[in-house]
Amino acid sequence: MKKNIFLPCLLLFAFPTMLFADIVYQGKRVQEWPEEARPTFNNQNTDKPSFLLTRTPVTQNKSHYAAPKGKIYSLTLLVDFSDKPAPVTVKEVEEWLNKEGFNKDGCNGSVRDYYLDVSNGQLDITNEVFGWYRAKHPKSWYENLKDYTGSDSLMKEVFAYFDPQIDFSRYDNDKDGTTEAINIVYAGAGETWGQGLWPHSGWSNEKRDGVRLTHHQMTDMPGKFSIYVFVHESGHMIFGWPDLYWYGDYCTMGNRANDLNPVAINDFYRADQGWIPFVDVTSEDVSLETTKPNEVCYRYKNPARPEKEGLVWSYVRNSGRDKVLKGSGLLMQHYDFSIEGNSAADKLTLRIVHANAAGKSNDNVKDQWPNPGSDANAFFKSGTYSEFSDDKYPAIRWYNGSKTGLKITDIGTPGETMQFCIGENCSADAPSSSSSSTPKPESSSSSVEITVQKIALETTLPISDNYASVILDLNGSEVAKILGLKRTEIEDKVEFYGVEPNGTLNSRTTGEGTGHWFDKDGKIVAWDVNGSSIVFSNVDLTTMTTKIGHMPNKVKAGDTFTVRQAVVYGSKQVTFEIKVTIEGGTTIIRNIEKARRGKPENKIFNVLGKPVGQRTASGELPKLPKGIYVEFVK
Ligand SMILES: [Zn+2]
Repeated sequence: MKKNIFLPCLLLFAFPTMLFADIVYQGKRVQEWPEEARPTFNNQNTDKPSFLLTRTPVTQNKSHYAAPKGKIYSLTLLVDFSDKPAPVTVKEVEEWLNKEGFNKDGCNGSVRDYYLDVSNGQLDITNEVFGWYRAKHPKSWYENLKDYTGSDSLMKEVFAYFDPQIDFSRYDNDKDGTTEAINIVYAGAGETWGQGLWPHSGWSNEKRDGVRLTHHQMTDMPGKFSIYVFVHESGHMIFGWPDLYWYGDYCTMGNRANDLNPVAINDFYRADQGWIPFVDVTSEDVSLETTKPNEVCYRYKNPARPEKEGLVWSYVRNSGRDKVLKGSGLLMQHYDFSIEGNSAADKLTLRIVHANAAGKSNDNVKDQWPNPGSDANAFFKSGTYSEFSDDKYPAIRWYNGSKTGLKITDIGTPGETMQFCIGENCSADAPSSSSSSTPKPESSSSSVEITVQKIALETTLPISDNYASVILDLNGSEVAKILGLKRTEIEDKVEFYGVEPNGTLNSRTTGEGTGHWFDKDGKIVAWDVNGSSIVFSNVDLTTMTTKIGHMPNKVKAGDTFTVRQAVVYGSKQVTFEIKVTIEGGTTIIRNIEKARRGKPENKIFNVLGKPVGQRTASGELPKLPKGIYVEFVK
């Protein structure tokens, strides 16, 4: 039995700007093309780019979706109305669709630029534009007909009108008897979702010049240029991709994230096209990977259903075509080609595995339809979400409920490249959390004693349910003096360590960047919501400050912890010993005059968490310069 699609009316009123432009097959909206109507295209292999990878990419020669390559000729037919005349010229439309660097009204390139970019130059969609044809009826006539009968009627008119000037067989690029891309662009804006001329990808049985004009798409031209609708509808029409409901902003087939700079096609679809290669991974593999954005898509197939289901991940960075995304890092997805459509929150053909589903029993996060968006915490990266495993992600299972067996550890920091370990213990340089090592500074032999100087610091930490942190100054100038360096040289020249309670240096960072998670005794541990990690200190060696915070729901007022981190240069070591006190309740003092009187002997801290004094026995504030302070209530 077919599931119902949606509640169109509710949708229309609740989320007018987020509506999908649909696929229409034989007059009805469908979530994806039925089997018999799917676009096809002969897939050819092309040159392979060079990689930083240690594993061999797989050549994709059997795509799930239609996978055209090289130059594709696409036909665009323009139509206007007596009540809505053409708002732009044919030349402007040609530029909108084809011109390199097209930027009218703020567009990030033309439609052709978009597909050249996301295909890594492998797909060149060139549009040939004809028009304008003045329709027989006013626009309102077509808009008011039931369902999509108005657009069907307009399509027939348009094909018939242009037939004498056009050889439609030119647009059957792979010579299989059907055209790949015919676009009808009409003057004015789409009016009613799911009716009339609302933008959609459609199907017809028309045959002209010996070819079937099966797939076409209809896009509105309100007068202002944007490329999202054309790009999205082309996704349905040329490749046969479905609408990715319940997916979020992470793909142009998902939500309508940005009209002028539409988000890229997701890396799984791109790899399926062969635009980037797949790299296959099994549960036996152990390897340290370095990857760049737009380079590869890692794939871990469900061994029980290798052709249907799997997990994929890749490095996605929020710049360029992905600028609209709120974060960067490894973005993981779960796919199952045996499921049709993306219509429920539970089991989908394609869904994001959100990094912040760690420890949770489900992954129904809020960036999915009907509350679309993206979330920085959906991405795996060093610090909070630096690891994927079945234990850490109880919500992520194969759809039959069994564990995946996939393990990814030591996920690094998003930069030009990003590192991660398939399996665990990838290299001797990145030992597991239980081991620690004493460093041997480069400039000295193993017998040289390291002189250790301690800097004691103290801070208070409010109780937080969202990893809120306070910033603590690490006294960069003093550190530089001790090490015999210039202040500005610290970042480049020192080695950074966590210090175990017994003084051993641990070279593994378990927090964000140069940072660590500690247990209650100050031992360095990996972040684990169900484990012993409780306090973090993420050091910034450039500013010589550290952000300190705690795991939600694990601390209580008055708890104290001592954590240690160190920088080493030559034979000199500076250890930061940081005493962290969890506040028993705090008041922010914004106005010293108004807060003059209070509870005797309460401690007062500045906004950096540094103690600046306490109230007198009679409850008076100490003498303080103007500013904002935090009062710690015992
Ligand atoms: Zn769509």
